[in-house]
Amino acid sequence: MTTTTETYGIDPTPTPLALLLLGREADPNSERGVECPGDLPAASDPDLVERARAAKAKLGDRVFILGHHYQRDEVIEFADVTGDSFKLARDAAARPEAEFIVFCGVHFMAESADILTSSAQQVILPDLAAGCSMADMATAEQVAECWDVLADAGIADVTVPVSYMNSSADIKAFTGKHGGSICTSSNAQRALEWAYEQGQKVLFLPDQHLGRNTAVRDLGFSLDDCVLYNPHKPNGGLTTEQLRNAKIILWRGHCSVHGRFSVDSVNDVRARIPGVNVLVHPECKHEVVSAADLVGSTEYIIKALDAAEPGSKWAIGTELNLVRRLAKAHPDKEVVFLDRAVCFCSTMNRIDLPHLVWTLESLVEGRVPNVITVDAETEKYAKAALDRMLALP
Ligand code: SF4
Repeated sequence: MTTTTETYGIDPTPTPLALLLLGREADPNSERGVECPGDLPAASDPDLVERARAAKAKLGDRVFILGHHYQRDEVIEFADVTGDSFKLARDAAARPEAEFIVFCGVHFMAESADILTSSAQQVILPDLAAGCSMADMATAEQVAECWDVLADAGIADVTVPVSYMNSSADIKAFTGKHGGSICTSSNAQRALEWAYEQGQKVLFLPDQHLGRNTAVRDLGFSLDDCVLYNPHKPNGGLTTEQLRNAKIILWRGHCSVHGRFSVDSVNDVRARIPGVNVLVHPECKHEVVSAADLVGSTEYIIKALDAAEPGSKWAIGTELNLVRRLAKAHPDKEVVFLDRAVCFCSTMNRIDLPHLVWTLESLVEGRVPNVITVDAETEKYAKAALDRMLALP
């Protein structure tokens, strides 16, 4: 397999969400949905911090605020707990006394929290337009069509789906229904090893890069063992022979944030900062991961920085809010963002202090806004896939 842009499916078209006005418009074709129905406080209101504090204090233990690592500082300040999406969903489930789980993250994360929390808890996303462009790259219809293609090629019954946590509840349910497991960027290797004990091939959804990086780096596959299924082409753009010969079928999805890092970014930072350690997330392209010194999930990145020697130098390839906080937390080390260009996750950034204040004040007034609910059938199968991940050795 050649490592061209086309092969890896990096679509230069930016997500249309970035163009939506904050909390005011909708993208009905995406996993997230509709506009924020309320009147948001003005971002310039000097009392926003005080208002958030007061509303949170009034709600007390009734509310539990989750803050994903990629959230803005102004939001993280009010989070009861921070972490990656799976950790946060489990943290919410461990707080059954909290009626309201305010998820400062994106839509698929709130869905996962709804799946794992009790029916007495309501999960709230402060801005319903906070979706994930990667999760949007695999719809239920497209994945069902792909499974039909695999069935026609005679390989569906030996293929196990493995879906990244960063997928919609529908995709998680598809995975559960077909005997597969969810994985995170921390346990993708174990999930793939488990899958190859169940079947001969894996359909990896929706992040091609995590799938490819794990298969090649951790399982020792060659790039030729991987094929890329493009849902926008007939039969995924693959021949029956290619499908039958592949060990892993990668969905053509990617993270628009991590997909921006390039080998040039790595070479550039090495030239600028001699002795720098390049540490990147496995959602980065394979050639970037190959050029880096270390690769790992957000939790891994945080721990690596905690354990690093004073005076050491680090270039981090992940979302900018997290990198900035790491740089602030480690003044004794040199911590820089891998790329020269600014690279926030635009949908994560939609959750800001005005949305958080609006959400908390609505709850104080007895209105429960932006509740994320997964229907019972979807929840049943999605939970089966999540439970298989929890049972991984
Ligand atoms: S950083 Fe990437 S994977 Fe995470 S929410 Fe943003 S677009 Fe999705």
